[in-house]
Formats: sequence, C-alpha cells, structure tokens
Amino acid sequence: MTTLTGRQVRTISGYVATLLDYPRWFIDREVDFTDCHLKGRFEPEDRCCAGCRFGSACCWLNQNRLEPGPDTPLPDLVSALRTAAAYVRSESQETADHARGCDCDTCEWLREASAFLRTHRHKT
Ligand SMILES: [Zn+2]
Repeated sequence: MTTLTGRQVRTISGYVATLLDYPRWFIDREVDFTDCHLKGRFEPEDRCCAGCRFGSACCWLNQNRLEPGPDTPLPDLVSALRTAAAYVRSESQETADHARGCDCDTCEWLREASAFLRTHRHKT
C-alpha cells in the first residue's frame, strides 16, 4: 500500500524509515551547532569533527537528515536505526531519570526500535 506521500508502509523498509523519524527530530534538537565552524556539516577529515562531543550524532544527522528514499537498502536503514537507538539511549539516560516502564516519547520509541532490532538480528 502506498500512502499519500508515496511512502510504502507495508514493507520492512517502510517501517524502519518511519522509525527513523523520531531520532532525526531528537538528534536535531540535541545537537548544538552554535560553536561549529562548519555549521553542522560533518567532515570526517576535519580535526574538530573527530574530537567534537556531537561528532557521532552530527555524522548520523548528515547521513539521515532527509527521509530515506524507496531505494535505500534495508541494511543501511537498519544500521542507521541501530546507531540512532544507541545514541538516543545514552542521551536519555544522561539527561533524565527514565524509570522502568516510563511512557515518555523517547522510552516508547526506544522500546519499539529495540524490539525491531532484536527480531531483525535473527533474520540476517
Ligand atoms: Zn522515559
């Protein structure tokens, strides 16, 4: 089935693409480009990027700023999701106390993403 925006949601790829919406927003909100001399354009060769505390998040954002196209290979989507889940998890643990069973957006997303990544691991 194709949605009005042309997105396939009945496929695994479509599902993962949907899951990537939340970390895109979350990471975009977390990362602070005020002091960035590249204005948020990640450069793997740049010395500042290598030592930046936002390095991994910024790198992710640069690769995933746009919604993945229909031709994006599933392994790429899964790998983007895995990286995002690790980042969101470590950030959320640092900034707030999320008790077990917490039902904030971040925890709900993390539960859904982790569940997907767990089941997917056995299929590849
Ligand atoms: Zn929470």
